[in-house]
Amino acid sequence: MLDDPLVQDLLKKIIDDPMEEDSNNIEIVRCLNDGITTDEEIAEKTGIRLNIVRKILYKLYDGGLASYKRYKDPETQWFSYNWQFEPEEVNNTLKKHIHDEIEEYEKILNDEKNNMFFVCPQGHNRFDFEDASNNDFICPECGEEVIFEPNEDFIESLEKKIDSLHEKYDSIGN
Ligand SMILES: [Zn+2]
Repeated sequence: MLDDPLVQDLLKKIIDDPMEEDSNNIEIVRCLNDGITTDEEIAEKTGIRLNIVRKILYKLYDGGLASYKRYKDPETQWFSYNWQFEPEEVNNTLKKHIHDEIEEYEKILNDEKNNMFFVCPQGHNRFDFEDASNNDFICPECGEEVIFEPNEDFIESLEKKIDSLHEKYDSIGN
């Protein structure tokens, strides 16, 4: 499952800091998925610093992809955590993300279908009919007249995108 590119994208979105490149945080998930339950063991196995391992575990928890059980070590009286990966939540989360994406594209599609659009010939602005009309069909940045722009091609590309997202959604198992 962790080798599925869709799953890897999702995990990266959840655990990776976009400011840091070449992270191998996915190895932490791999360890969890292999049944390693404590942060110390994961740090040892992956060579990733313990505080980073903890941060990633909490990110997974926050994203609903991991859970933990807290217990008191009878010897030291310290609390320890047993972590667990929640693979069945991966598909649910994937589906939710794709569902949200489909809704966003459908909103744009509706807007495109229900409006006419006008663009500045210099590329400054794109207006729907109402905004263009409020500006007397003049671009406020350069004073040139805005021109009607057919949007059939854009609509078609949106529809294709939505279709492919539906296919992606249906390809994910339960
Ligand atoms: Zn302009």
